[in-house]
Amino acid sequence: MNTTIVFATNNAHKLEEIRQIMPSNLQVLSLKDIGCGVDIPETGSTLQENALIKAQYVLEHYGMACFADDTGLEVYALNNEPGVYSARYAGGEGHDSEANMAKLLSRLADNTHREARFRTVIALVAPSDNTLGVNEPMFFEGIVEGHIATERHGTEGFGYDPLFVPNGYEKTFAELGADIKNQISHRARAVGKLVQFLSR
Ligand code: IMP
Repeated sequence: MNTTIVFATNNAHKLEEIRQIMPSNLQVLSLKDIGCGVDIPETGSTLQENALIKAQYVLEHYGMACFADDTGLEVYALNNEPGVYSARYAGGEGHDSEANMAKLLSRLADNTHREARFRTVIALVAPSDNTLGVNEPMFFEGIVEGHIATERHGTEGFGYDPLFVPNGYEKTFAELGADIKNQISHRARAVGKLVQFLSR
């Protein structure tokens, strides 16, 4: 049976990535596809809460099955900062990657304890009469462990990629590039679990 599900994002890159790995009987729509122009406010204090807020917004306003993701970089020596504030760590409107990386490097200074992880949480919700087997909000988590380099390396990717060296590699995500990143990343792992559930 063909089923439609909304991915609560307007990030074309994420959408394309997920469409490629979803089972073919699942049609994935973006916020734009359903005519939702709202920038759903992420007012939660955890990744899980923010993912759920976005997914539930679509369920409540459009009555459609929906999943949403939220990601944070957690640096252990900084009490898991920037975490849920990763996009706006340096303040302002957020998404200023250069300013965010500068703040992270200055907060860590010459601390030798630079272990960190990226964590993605996906929330999945659906109307009560759904055929997906979703009876209550479900969560899928993906983690990649690594450390924060002392300076930026590489040009690919986005966000904190020039500073994050995943365990098992000696290069940052920005040096390793999309092919390797998409095999081992936090998002790929969370998406993999979601797809496994939806494909069963
Ligand atoms: P979002 O929840 O996917 O929007 O991610 C929130 C913030 O975390 C982004 O603005 C980035 O700063 C950071 N981030 C998320 N995923 C990645 C990644 O794969 N590499 C580097 N930074 C990321």
